Amino acid sequence: MKILVINAGSSSLKYQLIDMEDEHVIAKGNCDRIGIDGGCITHKLANGKVITEDCQFNDHADAFKKLVEVLTKGCDAVVKNLNEITAIGHRIVQGAEHFSESVLATDEVVQKIEDISDLAPLHNPGHVQAIRACKKVFGPDVPEVVVFDTAFHQTMPPKAYMFGTPYEYYEKYNVRKYGFHGTSHRFVSNKLAKCLGRDLKDLKVITCHLGNGSSIAAIDHGKCVDTSMGFTPLDGILMGTRSGCIDASAVLYIMENEKLTASEMNMILNKQSGYLGVSGITSDDRDLRKAAAEGNKRAKLAGEMQRYHIKKYIGAYAAAMGGLDAIVFTGGIGENSASLREEVCDHMQFLGIELDTDKNIMCNAQEVEVSMPYSKVKVWIIPTNEELLIARDTKEIVEKIR
Ligand code: ADP
Repeated sequence: MKILVINAGSSSLKYQLIDMEDEHVIAKGNCDRIGIDGGCITHKLANGKVITEDCQFNDHADAFKKLVEVLTKGCDAVVKNLNEITAIGHRIVQGAEHFSESVLATDEVVQKIEDISDLAPLHNPGHVQAIRACKKVFGPDVPEVVVFDTAFHQTMPPKAYMFGTPYEYYEKYNVRKYGFHGTSHRFVSNKLAKCLGRDLKDLKVITCHLGNGSSIAAIDHGKCVDTSMGFTPLDGILMGTRSGCIDASAVLYIMENEKLTASEMNMILNKQSGYLGVSGITSDDRDLRKAAAEGNKRAKLAGEMQRYHIKKYIGAYAAAMGGLDAIVFTGGIGENSASLREEVCDHMQFLGIELDTDKNIMCNAQEVEVSMPYSKVKVWIIPTNEELLIARDTKEIVEKIR
């Protein structure tokens, strides 16, 4: 069974074609600048060959037509005809309280995703356009499944997801913590349980997804009980360009003094804050560390802030769960930065966290335990694979309806 995984934005369409026999990626790529001049497709094959082509994508349907062409035509075709693609799985950022698991993208479901667009205005409209375009290009007989970033966090209890604002805003506007990166937290926590040879239902785990966007989740007996991102993916720890947690009155104070509109402030908090805002030079962890090593004090500060935030979440979530069996590091920074893992685990012996600093340096970006054999809390690096989990969910749902 071959499954096409789609991660669509308003102007881009990332895809992976996965063979579910052995879960290998047949081809992957990106259609960029949809609805904007200067569109382009970048298509990568399993043998390493990369095809790039300038294209005009007037809408998502154009991008899907091009995708079908590169998958099926010419000497680099990976499928003989479209019938070989059994189903399509879509990544959806916001499912709100409607979706606590992946589902078939029926008309009603797609309408719901559209209805909650004001909770994710930069993401859900693009997802909906992509699902509808996909139906047009692939036809109604190819099942589409939607997999939500928020679904895994729907198990949080109200005491974790409610804000301390008047209750009516929750009732009127659905203002609450939703959490994001749920597919990644679910993937790595399940993988951890497999690696440990244990049942996730017997474990208390903290998963740290650290990339340009970062979030931390507390997973107690297989269920998410808290997570660091909130109403939007802005909350939590300091990120590449996002502020993370901030006193709301500081936001209002800055707006008043700088005479900023809500959308200008939103842009500053999401795109000009975090590593970039504090350091003034970069949003990238590697560049930040290089600058810090060369003596840039603000770069050093930004890094220290992030590590401090992560430590605080680990402490808080261990307390929230009343214990801790394992920590997982994943995402571009979590998987690759030995220094980050060392700094986060430093002085955490009181919690039972004992990092093997030698192993930690040697073992980047692979599934591996990096804690001492006697560490009460196991520390693991587990590369995330959200696309694979989307494909697995899609396969499972499709097999049920066949
Ligand atoms: P996104 O949230 O966009 O998916 P990624 O998970 O790709 O982000 O993570 C990007 C971050 O990972 C960047 O800050 C980058 O510096 C960091 N990163 C990627 N590779 C490495 C590496 N080899 N060593 C240290 N940091 C890395």
